[in-house]
Amino acid sequence: MPEGPEIRRAADQLVAAIRNEPLRHVELNLPGIERYAAALVGQRVLAITPRGKALLTRFDGGKVLYSHNQLYGVWRVARAGERPATKRQLRVVLETERKALLLYSASDISMLDESALSAHPFLSKLGPDALDEATTVAEIEARLGDPRFRRRQLAALLLDQAFVAGLGNYLRSEILFAAGLAAARRPMDLDDDELKALAEACLALPRASYRTRGRRAGPHGAKFRFRVFDRAGEPCEACGTPIERSEANSRRLYACPSCQA
Ligand SMILES: [Zn+2]
Repeated sequence: MPEGPEIRRAADQLVAAIRNEPLRHVELNLPGIERYAAALVGQRVLAITPRGKALLTRFDGGKVLYSHNQLYGVWRVARAGERPATKRQLRVVLETERKALLLYSASDISMLDESALSAHPFLSKLGPDALDEATTVAEIEARLGDPRFRRRQLAALLLDQAFVAGLGNYLRSEILFAAGLAAARRPMDLDDDELKALAEACLALPRASYRTRGRRAGPHGAKFRFRVFDRAGEPCEACGTPIERSEANSRRLYACPSCQA
């Protein structure tokens, strides 16, 4: 399952192929949205933004295409006019003079106005997005004190997109290590310093991953690397204790038993 940073980088690649160029050909091959295709010809795609595992494609005419890939949907970038050989159902075509974005197999697609986004059944359940620069540490701290979240174990809470959207399994382990917290603890058990450290890590880790993971180290050597995830048996970089692997919420979890006692 891709996590927030990987989804956002994939969205960046999609929008880079067609951004700000007029659409020459548009197909929306799903009942209920077909009628919007003609009006999109001549418009431009301004942005493609993930919300949880959904993507929002914004057009300069004001409409927003909501798409959720669930298990089967897949986006492809192709040259204009090119259609890869596949048995998948082609649902969306957004084509400029040079490139085309093709969405196959997804069935959860709708066309919305900006004002309708907050009422959308999936989007309305999501917490603030960790990769949205508008999301603040104070906002995450406030959510940790919210009755909906404060009694839940951190292992489950950090995977819940209603708490903070854009986290996932490797980020869960890395956030808990950065904050020095055991996965079985709950927000209500933490003191103010621990809450602050956790809230900061909930934003800092996904943002660092988005900027640097999978890329070569920059001039300042800033490259995201796992400090505990996938490192069972290796010495903790802080204290030398071997990192342990366990399972929590049916997903693997890595932690330093000493630093995160
Ligand atoms: Zn340690």
